[in-house]
Amino acid sequence: MIIILKQDINSRDKEYIQNFLKNQGFKVREIIGDQETIFGAVGRISIDFRKIEILPGVSRVIPISKPYKLASRELKKENTIVPVGRVKIGGNRVAVIAGPCAVESREQMFKAAKAVRESGAVMLRGGAFKPRTSPYSFQGMGEEGLKILKEAGESVGLPVVSEIVGTQYVDMMKEYVDVYQIGARNMQNFELLKAVGTKGMPVVLKRGLSATIEEWLMAAEYLMAHGSDNIILCERGIRTFETYTRNTLDLSAIPVIQKLSHLPIIVDPSHATGLRAKVAPMALAAIAAGADGLIVEVHPDPDNALSDGPQSLYPEEFEKLMRDLQALSPVIGKEIERIPENRPINVRSTDKAVDYIDKNIAFQGVSGAYSEKAIHSYFGDDVTTSPQTEFKDVFESVLQGETAFGVVPVENSLAGTINENIDLLLRYPDISVVGEHKLRIVHNLIGVPGSSLEGIRKVYSHPQGLAQCADFIEKHKNMEGIPFYDTAGAVAYLKKLNDPSCGAIAGKEAARVYDMHIIKESIETNPRNYTKFFIITRTDKAKFEDPNRAAFVFSTPDKPGALFSCLKILADSGINMNKLESRPIQGKPWQYMFFLSVDLPGESKAFDAALIQIGNISEDLRVLGKYRVEQ
Ligand code: PEP
Ligand code: MN
Repeated sequence: MIIILKQDINSRDKEYIQNFLKNQGFKVREIIGDQETIFGAVGRISIDFRKIEILPGVSRVIPISKPYKLASRELKKENTIVPVGRVKIGGNRVAVIAGPCAVESREQMFKAAKAVRESGAVMLRGGAFKPRTSPYSFQGMGEEGLKILKEAGESVGLPVVSEIVGTQYVDMMKEYVDVYQIGARNMQNFELLKAVGTKGMPVVLKRGLSATIEEWLMAAEYLMAHGSDNIILCERGIRTFETYTRNTLDLSAIPVIQKLSHLPIIVDPSHATGLRAKVAPMALAAIAAGADGLIVEVHPDPDNALSDGPQSLYPEEFEKLMRDLQALSPVIGKEIERIPENRPINVRSTDKAVDYIDKNIAFQGVSGAYSEKAIHSYFGDDVTTSPQTEFKDVFESVLQGETAFGVVPVENSLAGTINENIDLLLRYPDISVVGEHKLRIVHNLIGVPGSSLEGIRKVYSHPQGLAQCADFIEKHKNMEGIPFYDTAGAVAYLKKLNDPSCGAIAGKEAARVYDMHIIKESIETNPRNYTKFFIITRTDKAKFEDPNRAAFVFSTPDKPGALFSCLKILADSGINMNKLESRPIQGKPWQYMFFLSVDLPGESKAFDAALIQIGNISEDLRVLGKYRVEQ
C-alpha cells in the first residue's frame, strides 16, 4: 500500500508511522517525490487501512493493485535513475553498455574496453560464467575472468557488469563487478534473486526466454523486496515460432514497462537477433521506442570469438552505431550518457565548500523551464537549479559566486540567435563559455486539470513559444495567443488562474512541476526545433579538457575587406566556422562586434596561431571560451 504523508509532517510522526508499520510486519520504503513524500509498505499481511489513516501526519492510504508493488509505477511516479559510479541509467539519457559476450583473455578484454570506451560506451560488459546450451561449449574463465574484466574497466575508467549464475558467487563477484547481471535463463531463479537482492547493488535483470512482462516484473520485485532498489530491466528477445532470428525482440515491452513500472529499461539487440547485421537497426529502433539504453556485444575479433561471435559487432560497426545514436537521441528529447570527463572540471570538485556551490546552477525562468531541463540533461540530476528573473541575473549570480555555472539559450534553430545573451557575454569579460548543449524543444498545450482542446480560448506563452506553434494556434480559430514573459511562467500563471478556458504553451516538465494537464503534445509547427545553450562560469574558475570548439569576438576597422581578411586567416588555417553574427557596439553607432564560433582542429596550436594573426588586424579580440562539445 502507499501511505501519502502530509506535507507538514514532523520527523517524530514520520518515525512513529514507520515503526507502527514495521511492527505490523511490513517492509517500509520512504520515497521522496517532487510533490509529496510517501511510504511504500509491502508485506504478506493485510490490515484495515483506517488504522493507518488515523495516524498523525498521514494524508491518505492507497492500495497497490498490481502483484508487483515496489516495482510498480503506482508506488513511485517518477522514473528511477540508477547510478553506477559516475554513470546514470534512466531519465533523459541513452546509456550504452558494450563489450564482448565473454571474457576470453587479458588482451581481448583490454582491446575491447579501449574500443568501446573510445566510441562512447559508459559501461563494460563481459561474461565470466557463461550459461551455455551445450556443456561442451566454452563455459567462461570464472574468477580469473572477473579479475581481467575489472582491470580492463579500470584501465579506461568504465564500470563493469557481468552475469551471476549461482548464489555461491554472490560475495565473490561483489569484489569485481559494479553491476550484477541476471541472465534470461535465471530470471526466475528465485534463490538467486533473493541472494543478489540482499547486496543492494545495481542489477541488470534480463527478461526470461518465455517470460511474460508480469513475470519479469515479479522477478524485479524479488530483488527489490530483498533490498536492491536499482534494477535495470533488459529486454533481450523472447521465444516465438520465428526461427530466422535467434529470438524475437519485443520492442512493445518498452512502452508497456514504462507504463507499469518506474524502473529503467534497456535493450539487448545482440541476443535478441543473434545476427550482427540486425543489431544496429534494432538498437536504433529500441532507442526510438523509448529505451533508456542498450547492452551490445562488441568484440575486437568477432571471427575468432569463443562465444556469440556472429552477433558481435566489429569495433568500427559499434562506432558507427554510436554516431547514429547520437544523431537520433536529441530527436526524441534525450542525450547520450557520457562518462562526465568532458564537463567543466569544477563540477567534480572534491573541495567541500566549493562542492556545495558547484552543484547549484543558475538559469532564467521559473521551475520547469527549458533552460532547467537543459541543466539536468547536461549536468545530471543531482545538481540544484537556481531560477533567476532575467538573463542578466544569471550572469550576475555566476559572477558573484552564488552559483558556479549558468545555462543560457543562445540560438534556436527556427527563431535564430538570442542576441541578449550574446550581448551579455560581451558585457561580462569575467564570464567565460565552458560548454554548449543542444536540446530539442517540444511544446505542448497545457491546461488546468479537466480542461479540453475545444474549451481553450486564451493561450499564454513566451513570444518565441507562440511563434513556434503559430500553425496550431491558427488552425484553432477560437484560440488567441497572449505573450507572457516565459513558457514555464505561463504554466505557473495558469495554475493561479485556474480557468479551463485558458491554456499555456510550454514543455512537459512545466506541466509536471505545476500539476497541470497536457491537452496536446508536440504542437510546434516544425518538430526539428532545437535550442542551443551555453554553459557559463567565472573566467577565473574555468578549466577545460581537450577543447574542440571556441567562441570569440572581435571588431574590425572600417575599411574594405577588413572582415574578409580575418575570415581568410581561419580558412587558410583549416578552421571551420560554424557561426558568425554581428552585433552593434554599445555607444559606438554603426560599429559592430563579430561573434564567431569555430571547430578547433585536433591540433589547437593552429587556432592559437590564427588568433594571433587575427589580433594583429582587428580590435578588441576576446576569446569567450574554449570548450568541448560532443559532435
Ligand atoms: C549475455 O548477456 O551474455 C547472455 C547470456 O544473455 P541472455 O541471458 O539474455 O541470454
Ligand atoms: Mn552472449
